[in-house]
Amino acid sequence: MTHVAIIGGGPGGYEAALVAARHGAEVTIVERDGWGGSTVLTDCVPSKTLIATADVLTEVAESLELGVELPSGVHADLAKVNHRVLDLAQAQSHDIGERLSSSGVRILRGQGRLASGTTIEVTDADGATSTIEADAVLVATGAHPRVSDTAQPDGERILTWEQVYGLTELPDHMIVVGSGVTGAEFASAYNGLGARVTLVSSRDRVLPGEDPDAADTIEDVFRRRGMDVLGNSRMASVERDGDTVRVTLTDGRVVEGSHCLLALGSIPNSEGLGLAENGVLLDDGGFVRVDRVSRTTAPGVYAAGDCTGVLMLASVAAQQGRIAMAHVLGSAVHPLNLTEVSSNIFTSPEIATVGVSQKKIDEQGIQADVAMLPLAANPRAKMQGVRDGFVKLFARRGSGTVIGGVIVGPRASELIHVVSLAVSTSLTIDQVANAFTVYPSMSGTVAEVARRIHRPE
Ligand SMILES: Cc1cc2nc3c(=O)[nH]c(=O)nc-3n(C[C@H](O)[C@H](O)[C@H](O)COP(=O)(O)OP(=O)(O)OC[C@H]3O[C@@H](n4cnc5c(N)ncnc54)[C@H](O)[C@@H]3O)c2cc1C
Repeated sequence: MTHVAIIGGGPGGYEAALVAARHGAEVTIVERDGWGGSTVLTDCVPSKTLIATADVLTEVAESLELGVELPSGVHADLAKVNHRVLDLAQAQSHDIGERLSSSGVRILRGQGRLASGTTIEVTDADGATSTIEADAVLVATGAHPRVSDTAQPDGERILTWEQVYGLTELPDHMIVVGSGVTGAEFASAYNGLGARVTLVSSRDRVLPGEDPDAADTIEDVFRRRGMDVLGNSRMASVERDGDTVRVTLTDGRVVEGSHCLLALGSIPNSEGLGLAENGVLLDDGGFVRVDRVSRTTAPGVYAAGDCTGVLMLASVAAQQGRIAMAHVLGSAVHPLNLTEVSSNIFTSPEIATVGVSQKKIDEQGIQADVAMLPLAANPRAKMQGVRDGFVKLFARRGSGTVIGGVIVGPRASELIHVVSLAVSTSLTIDQVANAFTVYPSMSGTVAEVARRIHRPE
């Protein structure tokens, strides 16, 4: 029987453990904090639960034009909201632990490290160590928030995204530093919850690296909803003075608020794990180098998830872990294909993407036809008072195969699935155009965009 040892109980680790156990392997998984990892306890699950409340309030605020008479002062009680967030995360973590146990996985609480070859050492909370000899090791230790020497979180008013759930009252003025996915999501959420929000972006546009039309749409919405978006503004330092936080920018401007959220990116948890000493190559940023089947440079040692920096998504972490197990256990292996990954930014409205991006098409000179339509022209959108958003599709010129798409709108995360299916199964634009859509529905715009790309013979 093959014995697999896994360090890290997030989606990269626990999904691999479940799949390996199902395939008859002996599996040991070590986790130092809680089952489900940062995904469940501090990152993805809590943030999306907070955003669920913000989305309701945003919808309520915009329902006046639908004829809804609102009592004044509709608001959320942040103490209750955060209580719910943390309860939900704990319950999910508990469920994952139970699932691992009932699947026959040996679960250990403690700090794991690679001792030598494919042997790991585990140190428990009391400092006792044990050694596990395995045939293969999967490192899935995740990442943690980046902070800077001049912007140290205090857990009360200067916060990382892991610390915001301790707030019991809505901040008067939240300054979010960083306008990548995490910064944009939290800025959108606190704006929806009713806080004054300033978003400090070092680039000329929010969400650099994302589809430019999507980024422009979200920035317009942010500004229309009263958010201060400071472009080309790099944070130099963050200081607290009593109930005030001061964010000083590199050009000398100072922004004052009641709280500051640092969304400066992530650092891989790869230190102190015995990786480099045992032949596992790390890149300059400390990320573990892996190939498309999750192999590191050390024989029998695999890595998955945020510690590899391949694409920091829970879904990708889980897939990398499953692929590693297929490789270890000799099952059919489908190497990771990033062009099929669909992802979503949970701002309001949401931004969902799959396949090749506009940037890749432009930079690599991919011969593609592109069409885009605003959601505002869609009958269902009109009925629901939806003004913002669009559907954009990319198809390979000649064959008409769908190679990518972007959807901005309410529940774009759900709408993108049809495009994802088209990309992963190489459907043509005509096949997407000809499939029935419900009338009236937002997905009608997906088919309509496909029709716009169709070229009569
Ligand atoms: C605010 C935020 C929101 C996000 N939202 C989404 C989203 O909506 N959708 C999405 O797909 N992704 C989202 N992500 C990204 C997602 O959370 C990560 O990609 C995902 O957590 C990666 O999973 P992982 O298994 O690699 O790491 P983690 O989930 O971080 O798990 C790693 C685990 O390893 C443990 N560990 C570390 N070192 C050791 C050690 N030496 N011994 C034992 N255990 C150890 C840690 O305690 C941790 O539990 C979000 C990220 C952030 C920051």
